[in-house]
Parts: sequence; structure tokens; C-alpha cells
Amino acid sequence: MPHSALPSKVLYIDLTRRRFWVEDRGDLFEEYLGGAGVAAQLLKEECPKGTDPFSPDNPIIFAVGPLTCLFPMASKTVAMFKSPLTGELGESHAGGRSAIAIRSAGYGAIVIKGASDMPIYVAVHGSKVYFRDAAAYWGMESALTVGRVIRENEPGSGVRSIMRIGRAGEKLVRYAMVMTETFRHFGRLGLGAVFGSKKLKALVVSGKNTVEVPNKKLFRDVYDELFKLMVESDLLKKYHEIGTPINVLTLNALKGLPTRNLKSGEFEGAEAISGEKLAEDFLGRRVACAHCPVACIHLAALREPYEEEPYFYKTTWVSYDYELTYALGSMLGISDTVGFLKLVDTVEKYGLDAMSTGVCLAWATEAYERKLISKEDLNGLEPKWGDHETYIKMTKLIVTQPNDFYKSLAMGVEAAATKYGGLDFALSFGGNEMPGYHTGPAAHVGYLTGARHSHLDSAGYSLDEKTIGATPSPEKIADELFKEEAWRQVLSSLVVCFFARRVYTPENTSKALRAAGVERSVEELTSLGTKILAEKYEFKFREGFNPENLRVPKRIFETPTPHGKISEETVRKAVQLYVEKVKSVKK
Ligand code: SF4
Repeated sequence: MPHSALPSKVLYIDLTRRRFWVEDRGDLFEEYLGGAGVAAQLLKEECPKGTDPFSPDNPIIFAVGPLTCLFPMASKTVAMFKSPLTGELGESHAGGRSAIAIRSAGYGAIVIKGASDMPIYVAVHGSKVYFRDAAAYWGMESALTVGRVIRENEPGSGVRSIMRIGRAGEKLVRYAMVMTETFRHFGRLGLGAVFGSKKLKALVVSGKNTVEVPNKKLFRDVYDELFKLMVESDLLKKYHEIGTPINVLTLNALKGLPTRNLKSGEFEGAEAISGEKLAEDFLGRRVACAHCPVACIHLAALREPYEEEPYFYKTTWVSYDYELTYALGSMLGISDTVGFLKLVDTVEKYGLDAMSTGVCLAWATEAYERKLISKEDLNGLEPKWGDHETYIKMTKLIVTQPNDFYKSLAMGVEAAATKYGGLDFALSFGGNEMPGYHTGPAAHVGYLTGARHSHLDSAGYSLDEKTIGATPSPEKIADELFKEEAWRQVLSSLVVCFFARRVYTPENTSKALRAAGVERSVEELTSLGTKILAEKYEFKFREGFNPENLRVPKRIFETPTPHGKISEETVRKAVQLYVEKVKSVKK
């Protein structure tokens, strides 16, 4: 029997009893490979039906896969939990050093259960687990500072991962994120709030284990082939050079860039927040997740003078990508580049998801324009499109929640609009705030049907962009999105960065697995993807997701897309067909 690089060990950490233990769950990795596939099973095992997302019974699961530590761009970790934002499946992916650290510590997955009665952080160094007092870090204004302080106290410099929350997580903002290695995030669906509900300030992981492969020659050959595709072909060039904000001008030209709460798909100030402008005037560094040759993470150097000392400047590094440029830029009508970067920095510091925050602020601005909320509700503030200073103040208030209005806004745009009105222009899908593509019907069907209501589930925007001028039928939309989301379950189980999806084709993925000693044909992988998707949906249904009750914000039908105005009938039909497909999967 050749040696295989499949992980098998799962570390269980019980915060209530301050205990930990390791189980061999080779059964799960053999069947589901790792990542999302294994995490979905652990979630079903550990999360009782109907669990309150803030109850100690809501587990947090981190999982990596058989290619982690072995192949480039298998650099991500999947986090799974019950989402406090949507009340059903919570899934978020991040890189940094999280994946490499978990695998080097000897684990395929980590399950965190229970809750602490006082602020703590957990440090996992290989087989040792420490529960450390975090009272001194609780309440610190910036999540960036928390990381800096923890790294002074923990070993493993250069290989360890520090996953931590900011004030937003502590205050249970339902779209609080978990920051890892400063510039990466488990951004979506409120993992930060689940950390906060457990009084868990951070998880630190490091290790020294290596991963063996059965056939070193085969491994080297496949590695070289994939590496060359990543660095020598054009497949990933755009991610390194200008980065994902290259989409700003492209989408604006197509009239698919959500602007001012999607009153328009075109932003007259797009140039000022474009990837090109940011690269020319602010780009100071590019950094990468561990084991990635692409380095798509762009850091702007924001240089500001100290008020009291002339010719003395403070430089702040602000990471930017397309999604937050849309949400904190065009969606709020902001075209002051420095103001935009300051807002991004504020959102990062407090540990909020940028997309959800931008959508909430945009809705609040329109709700104020329409007199659904008053200046008093807004704590004396008057939001205006483009006014980044007011948005910075509002961001702080979302975290501190001084009154009922900000308490509602901290629960997401759906909750706020349900209470104050304005659901027609509250841009959330399945409870999750909208991503940055108003490209046509497929993008919105993807947000509605995706297991985590994300543009990354099935990339509907990509289908829209390929079919401008020939809008596909609902049947075609449902077919294409289903195929894409099913295949992405395989990538999520490995856990490969989606930017490498054109490198990790089904054939190359099967080859890479073989080099890791794991034999899976293309057909087996394809059917595994479909099975994992159906199982994730099973969890959604179990927790009350009902596609028939899905709210579709009217605004998406009013504002033209590159396909013209979207037909509501097409969207609803495609959603229905998609769900029928998921339900018909035989496992
Ligand atoms: S392309 Fe970017 S997000 Fe993906 S692994 Fe590389 S650095 Fe991380």
C-alpha cells in the first residue's frame, strides 16, 4: 500500500473545560479529502440542530487538505460554523499562514467547542495546547495591535499563524471577521462574532511536522508543471500586477459596478479608486499567503503627516482588493482615494467584514435620504454619498452600538431594514450582504443559491460576462452555476485558492493528488464535488433555509446591468431549477 499524504488527525479543543484531545478521523479524510468536505461532516456531527450561533454548542471548524504544504496555492484554510448573520451554513476561507501552520502542527482539522467564561486565546504548538489569559487584549482598539502583541509572546516566528478578532468580534457584530497574518481574513458570515461569543480572542498555531510523499520524482514533476503554469503563463498575471481592483474600471465600463447602494451600475469617480490609480500612487508592497508564488495581496502605503510635527510622517499599510473597493468605494460614492483608504483601514482595525459594512452603510445613507431613519437614530450624524469622514464615524458606532439603530445595523442590512423599512433596497441575499457584481441574472442567481451566498460559490458574474448580448435561459444558468459550484467543492476540500482554478483543472487536480499518493479519477472527483454540495445544502435545509422564502431585493431589477434590466421571472425560475438539482443528487 503506497503511503498517502492524506491528513487524518483532528484536534478537538473544549473551551468550557479547557481540555483538548486528538482523534484519528482518517475515515473522513479518505471519503472527503479535507477542507470543506471534511468540515461539513464535522459541523453536522458537532452542531446540534437549531443551535443558537452564539451558544457554546456552535462549533468552529478549521480544515486543510491533502495538498496543503505540498503544492503551491493550496494555501487556504476553510472555516465552518453556524453563521450568526444568516442563521445557517457559515463558511469562510483564508490563507496567510493558517493552512501551513495547521498542517505543520500535525492536523487536518481543528474543532473548537464550548465557550470560555473569561477572555482567552488558545495557542497550539504541535501536540501542545495552551489556554492563555487574554483579558489584557480584550477591548484593544485595533486587531492589528493584538496580533503584534501576541507575536511577542508566542514561539514560531515566520511559520506560526495568529487568527484573531477585533472589537467588532467582541461586540458580536454579526459580520465581524477573523484576521490572520494582518492582511488576510476569514471575512464573511460572522466567524469573528462566533469567536467573540466564546470569549476567544485568538487562535495561534505553529508546528514543525513535514509531509511525506510516496514518489518524490512524480511529485517534483507535477510540482514543476503546476508552478510553471502559475508563474510563466498569463493565467495569474493580473492578480499579481494590478491585483483584483483591476475589475473596477472593467466593471464600470460594462455598467456592472454597484454604485451608491446600486442606484447605478456606473460610477463617475471610478478612476480614483481603480486598481491602476492605487498601484500608481500608493502601492508599496505585494505580499503572499504561505506557499503562493502569485502574491496578489496589495498594500497601499498611506503616508500622513503628524498634526503637531511638521515633516514627520506616519505610514500605514492598507491592504486592498476589488471587493472592498466596491463596498467601501463606489457603493458609498467615495472617490477621494485617501479618504477611501482611511475608511478601509478603520474597517480592518475594528475587524469587520468590508463587504457587509459597505452595504450596511449604503443602505443607511439611502434610508436617511428617504427619511426612514432620523439624525437622532444616527447619533447625530448625517450620511452623504462620498463623505468618508461620516462613514468612518458610523463604522465606529456599528461596533460600539450606542442605540437601537446601530444595534440593528450590527445585525446586518436585512435585520436593520426589517425594523426600519427599506427592504426593497437592502442588498442582501439569503441574509448575506451583496458582493460587487451587478453583471446580469447569473450573478444574482449565484448569490441566492450559493451554499454560502457568496460570489465565490459559483461565479455567476463570470457567466454573465461571457454571455453579454445573449442572456442564457434559466435552465442554462442553473446548469452552469451548479456545475461550477460542485467543482469548487473539490477545490475547497483541497484547499486551493480559487484564483488558481484554471491551473487546478480536474485533470491537474487528479495528477497532483496522485503525486500525493491519493488516487482519485476526474470522474470520482466530480461526483465527490456534487456530493459535498448536496451535503452542505442538507445542513442549510436542516437549519431552516427555504428557497421559496428567499427575499430578492427589488433594486436589482430596477438598475440596468450589462444584460439590460434583469427579469425577475428568469431569476426565480433559475433559483427553483438550481434547488431541484441539489435535491435530486443521489449520495
Ligand atoms: S493568489 Fe493571493 S489569495 Fe491566493 S493564495 Fe496567493 S496570495 Fe493568497
